Amino acid sequence: MPEVIVIIILSVTIIVCTIISRKRRKIVQDTSVMFKKLLELNSKYNFNWNIQQQYTFQISLPSKSKFDRYELIHLLDKNILNNSKLMQTSKEIENNRNLYKEYSTKINSLKSEITEEQTKTLHISYAKYIKIEQKLFSKLKINPILDNTIVCTATYSSPKGRNHYFKTANYKMDQVLRRYTILQLQIANQNSEKMRKKRARSQMTDKLRYSILKRDGFKCKICGRTAEDGIKLHVDHIVPVAKGGETVSNNLRTLCETCNRGKSDEIE
Ligand SMILES: [Zn+2]
Repeated sequence: MPEVIVIIILSVTIIVCTIISRKRRKIVQDTSVMFKKLLELNSKYNFNWNIQQQYTFQISLPSKSKFDRYELIHLLDKNILNNSKLMQTSKEIENNRNLYKEYSTKINSLKSEITEEQTKTLHISYAKYIKIEQKLFSKLKINPILDNTIVCTATYSSPKGRNHYFKTANYKMDQVLRRYTILQLQIANQNSEKMRKKRARSQMTDKLRYSILKRDGFKCKICGRTAEDGIKLHVDHIVPVAKGGETVSNNLRTLCETCNRGKSDEIE
């Protein structure tokens, strides 16, 4: 019988304690200016909660040597360039981060505004009030999605399936954004190089071609033959366009077809 009494006393104590702590929490919720300001801020900031928090990319390689040489960053790069959803996610995360920066600054400037005098009238100790207020505050402070993980995996299985090889790397959103900047620069450089080559080729006009042939005495600069020897003369870039050569007279010379072929794109 005494056990039952102990259980009853314990239960009643727990119930009473719960009621008291609920009542105290209610008092703090109703009177805390800091808490009210937090709720106001929360309603003002619309964070995006529909962000994909993990991406998994996989590549299966056709041989062991290709597997060994494969760098997982290439798989990330490939998806940065082709997976529009991944880039959409990184934009959403950036937006959340910018918003959160602003939100945190405002949140961190909030301070308890309760005075010891006021807590006396609420029949709660000042220390207890502050403790409850802090607890409520950290519970209701928004923690938005600020990052995600990109898992890249490369695999290789030997033909008879005897051996399986596997390597993996995890990337975070900052790496994605860094790689994106690097890749954009590379693409821009490639495009400007294409433009340079196109320009260099278009600068080779009939007029310029004739002036070079004339300057070189209508003779191949290597073998010395002329049109009278039954060969065709070309105007050649000494430093090829592909290797950065410009279409300017000091980079041009007359060559016969045979010498030109022998030279191709090599710099002598
Ligand atoms: Zn020649």
